[in-house]
Amino acid sequence: MSSAKKPLTVLIVGAGIAGLSTAIALRRAGHQVEVFEQSSFADEVGAAIQLPPNAMRTVVKWGFSKDRARLELCGAALTARADNLEPLYKGSFSHFSDKYGSMWYSSHRVDLHNELKLLATEENASGIPVKINLASKVADIGPRVADIYSGEVQNFVGIHPDEEQRREDFQASSSREYLLETYKDFNPVLLRVMEKVKDVKLWPLLHRPPLRTWHTERLLFIGDAAHPMLPHADQGQAGAQAIEDACALGLLLEGIESADVNSRLKLFEKVRIGRAGAVQIFSRYGQDQADKVKQEVEKIEGWKGAVPANQGEFHDWNFSWDVYSECQRALDDERLEKDNEKDKGT
Ligand SMILES: Cc1cc2nc3c(=O)[nH]c(=O)nc-3n(C[C@H](O)[C@H](O)[C@H](O)COP(=O)(O)OP(=O)(O)OC[C@H]3O[C@@H](n4cnc5c(N)ncnc54)[C@H](O)[C@@H]3O)c2cc1C
Repeated sequence: MSSAKKPLTVLIVGAGIAGLSTAIALRRAGHQVEVFEQSSFADEVGAAIQLPPNAMRTVVKWGFSKDRARLELCGAALTARADNLEPLYKGSFSHFSDKYGSMWYSSHRVDLHNELKLLATEENASGIPVKINLASKVADIGPRVADIYSGEVQNFVGIHPDEEQRREDFQASSSREYLLETYKDFNPVLLRVMEKVKDVKLWPLLHRPPLRTWHTERLLFIGDAAHPMLPHADQGQAGAQAIEDACALGLLLEGIESADVNSRLKLFEKVRIGRAGAVQIFSRYGQDQADKVKQEVEKIEGWKGAVPANQGEFHDWNFSWDVYSECQRALDDERLEKDNEKDKGT
């Protein structure tokens, strides 16, 4: 950024994936960033998280180390019926690097956080190191860790409809009996695996339809606060969408001054809200429910093009979207509009 311009001071509530990623993108864009996190990072939730190609392409540009974050390669997928294990889909992802610019990885959530925290705060990187205030709950505005995902601990996720109106709580424990009762119709091979479980957590997942706006004045919602979505088994996009938010913010706020913040937040919303809203809708349905997806997605303002209807098309839609070129296009359009206005005035 130009040396004449004063960096923005940006305050971020929450050092989750969205908060830390945004902190990295904005420090790299030359701004001064401070993060307030209610927890002390002493009780972080241990679970797996996928890093699909659209997220990997972005974080790698920030210096993200696959080794430090101990990423595991997801080289193939098998989807099978739960009762008789008859395969429904089998596929190799070995072509992902050529097609989408990166392979698909998974990480232990705590390892991912640690790597993002390092990139935000390290001294020897571009921009001003981010200050993270822990145990700092923001009261008003306008995760326990085992030393794992080295093959010592296995993560199993089961998603099922729930009749009870539970509150969101990442730490709520459940029992092996509840697990076995819930999945009693599953194949005995799977039930034998479930019988071995030692630690059962029950994580309520709540759907919320896409919001019409994510910002008011200079206050902006990103990540799950703006577009919470369900962890559909073959999507794994919610954290990736938070990373795309962060990258877009870094690109659109680079080199700007305080007076431009509102218009750039509007531009951010224009670039991101349709994309994240569509992924939110996709996450609600199975990929065999193309009609429902189509019905809802086509309500999104400005929706263009075909609605994905099978796994390959969902992969293309999720992984091919390029945050860099989308932001560049938005900036070019903005410049053109300003030039046209100037021409009209002369
Ligand atoms: C079971 C499960 C599996 C998932 N699997 C995947 C996957 O495979 N791939 C994927 O991409 N996504 C996955 N997700 C979704 C992903 O975890 C979320 O999208 C992502 O964590 C969102 O990041 P965030 O920073 O927006 O929110 P969070 O990670 O929830 O972070 C918010 C932070 O804000 C802090 N905070 C909240 N209120 C305050 C306050 N008042 N003051 C200060 N701090 C505050 C919280 O302590 C927290 O640290 C999964 C989610 C679940 C539940």
